Amino acid sequence: MLPAVASSEPNSALHSALRQFHAAADRIGLADQQRDILTAFKAIYQTRFPVEMDDGSFRVFDGYRVHHNAARGPLKGGIRYSPDVSLDDVKALAMWMTWKCAVVGLPFGGAKGGVVVDPRAISAYELENLTRRFTAEITPIIGPDKDIPAPDMGTNAQVMAWMMDTYSMGHGYTIPAVVTGKPVSLGGSEGRYEATGRGLLYLLEEHLQDAGGVRGKNIAVHGFGNVGGVAARLLQQAGARVQYLCDRDTGIFHPQGVDATAAFAFVESGRVLADWDGAGERIAPDAVLEADVDILVPAALENVITAANVDRVRAPLIIEGANGPIGPDADDALTARGVTIIPDVLANAGGVTVSYFEWVQARQYMHWREQQVNDELRRLLTDAYRAVVARAMQAQDCTLREASQWIGIERVIEATTLRGIFP
Ligand code: GLU
Repeated sequence: MLPAVASSEPNSALHSALRQFHAAADRIGLADQQRDILTAFKAIYQTRFPVEMDDGSFRVFDGYRVHHNAARGPLKGGIRYSPDVSLDDVKALAMWMTWKCAVVGLPFGGAKGGVVVDPRAISAYELENLTRRFTAEITPIIGPDKDIPAPDMGTNAQVMAWMMDTYSMGHGYTIPAVVTGKPVSLGGSEGRYEATGRGLLYLLEEHLQDAGGVRGKNIAVHGFGNVGGVAARLLQQAGARVQYLCDRDTGIFHPQGVDATAAFAFVESGRVLADWDGAGERIAPDAVLEADVDILVPAALENVITAANVDRVRAPLIIEGANGPIGPDADDALTARGVTIIPDVLANAGGVTVSYFEWVQARQYMHWREQQVNDELRRLLTDAYRAVVARAMQAQDCTLREASQWIGIERVIEATTLRGIFP
């Protein structure tokens, strides 16, 4: 095993990202020198910054912004607010962004940011203070031509509005293209909020084309935020039976399908599933991962399917809404059992794809209609999916994950070779 893999924690996202990279690199036959270039992080920015709290006291927070690889263009990736986020997590997520942008063909490199904070445990005003101070700290390294943040877990359009405003005020004029995932009224894109969930739907429709699409399929969705909640709603509207869903504390099962549209409207209004009175049996959230369904959509956190529970996972098809929800050992076990996995770097690329559209619109001061956004999203994701499937079929025993990484890595290498190493 290569030192880069051995040095990361066995159950960490970074371990998964590196192990996946080396598996694909073995298949491509990448030389050590190329592996060194592609596993190197271009820059790691780490900051400790004070925030004034509502009671007048100050608290110090840790924040990170990691640039993985910029060979294909400006850096792109979300900012995560979570009490559990570590620098290693941010590095893994940045590396996944590189392959994700490359596999869809977006002209971006991969980045990610994080602040160690539970956004639900502080007030709206404290959240704004924290966001503005963090943005001021990373202002030297972000910018519409350099590094364009976006929402991730724990952040949303409001947080992006504060980031855009803080960055813009530092420059003296409005710079809408510095972040994506903004409110539509501030130059955000139609369809961005739903884009990751909608991308999952488009990919499933493409994957199940010869099997009648998603209509009538039994589905389990793990996680009920911007990805899982929107996906569950859109899948229900497309005729699927969302038998299982869950937020952090509550799982719900209904054999005829939970009313995901009503449940998500309830959660979007700031409440939790525990207080929702819709029909269905209440179950443990993690039982959703073990549901006997046609399709499982892990859309919460990384590493929720590991060696500890993989034997109980029953779905024959898994589409990764979250980044890195399946640990590497579990991934091997599922593959050996013949489970099809549509991997994160392809499956959840809808979000960054519409972020790209938002960036293009912001730079042109244009506004696209939602239909145009969705049509272009479907086109890019469908093309990427077909290229991945074709690659997996050309090679022997090649999973969709390996094929996605292969295409992503190949494109980054091509860009690196064409540009050359300066000086
Ligand atoms: N945070 C999302 C992701 O993991 C979106 C990133 C973006 O839009 O830049 O893909």
